[in-house]
Amino acid sequence: MSTNKNYGFATKAIHAGEEPDYREGASGDVVVPIHLSTTFARKDVTDPTGGYEYTRSLNPTRKALETKLASLENAAYGLAFTSGLAAESTVLLSLLKSGDHIVAFEDLYGGTKRLFNNVFKKLEYGVSYVDATDPTEVEKAITPATKLVWIETPSNPLLKISDIKAIAEISHKHHLILVVDNTFLSPYFQKPLNLGADIVVHSSTKYIGGHSDVLGGAVLVNDPVYYEKIQYNQNAVGAVLPPFDSYLTLRGIKTLAVRLEQHQKNALEVAHYLENHPKVKKVIYPGLESHPQHALAKVQATGFGGVLSFELKGTLEDAKAFLKKLNVFALAESLGGVESLIELPSLMTHSSVAKEVRDKIGITDTLIRVSVGIEDIHDLIADLKQALE
Ligand SMILES: *Cc1c(COP(=O)(O)O)cnc(C)c1O
Repeated sequence: MSTNKNYGFATKAIHAGEEPDYREGASGDVVVPIHLSTTFARKDVTDPTGGYEYTRSLNPTRKALETKLASLENAAYGLAFTSGLAAESTVLLSLLKSGDHIVAFEDLYGGTKRLFNNVFKKLEYGVSYVDATDPTEVEKAITPATKLVWIETPSNPLLKISDIKAIAEISHKHHLILVVDNTFLSPYFQKPLNLGADIVVHSSTKYIGGHSDVLGGAVLVNDPVYYEKIQYNQNAVGAVLPPFDSYLTLRGIKTLAVRLEQHQKNALEVAHYLENHPKVKKVIYPGLESHPQHALAKVQATGFGGVLSFELKGTLEDAKAFLKKLNVFALAESLGGVESLIELPSLMTHSSVAKEVRDKIGITDTLIRVSVGIEDIHDLIADLKQALE
């Protein structure tokens, strides 16, 4: 078969990039082989076999993944990197020069902020952090030096939603490039390129890989000029996803649709359970009617994902005691795997954020983030119940 553009998401997730090779001498594998070879022989000096020369530049297993990711995100081009942060770094290196300015959402993944503030500071980029849930704040922060707008929606851990379409319109009016980190919803629930974004970045370590066993990142674009620049640096810098990791990610993606349906179903049940518990102050989940941007979440995405946060009544000590009592939920950072993970942002993922900033944006001492897994829902609820008691 060849993968048709009109196929549904689950069909593309299974088949795109992995069409069997029926040519003479090929074996017709239904799963792309793990091509470990770092170099590829040719019969003639000027004619690399199948375009392959050296694995950093192009590798058949990684190419299968890049094709599959592009197909799922409705992108013309996909690129796979060793981590989400490697993907982001390569985008920044490729599109910015010294003196350029970025308008970024204040509630970005901590590692992204660390790149902006500590790593790329050397190249003298300016960054303004704004509350992108209000698109007019984005527009107000644009200066003549602005080149890029960078958002993440829903955000982490407060699940704030930014209006991708409105921010894309503002960005394009000012001839800026809009980058959207789509890690939290994955292309199954949200396709930012369809809403006007120019570049999508992912930590495929999360839902795309889906099994907490492979680190990776991705960049998806439609514009051939941006693609060429980023692809040039993917090879020139070399943070490419290795063949075995590409294979694990390809394997994970095949169940992305069924996994995300179940993550969301479980997350909604957990959210409703917690919302009605007397020891819980509030629950933040875009799928709840009580979420202030529930309507926007429904319009720009086809689902709400599997991550929620809630605030426990009481003190930091109460939150610590609760987390200690859980048996099914693992007390761990990261998200998006089949197993349920729970964490305390103030002391774990967001401990590097200054306390005044945490208090200002709402990351309190008893705010708990949950990546709801796909275990049996009654086991998850029973575990929360016994730990809350
Ligand atoms: C984890 C994460 C990243 C960083 O990805 P790595 O694969 O850990 O480098 C970037 N953005 C978001 C939203 C993430 O959750």
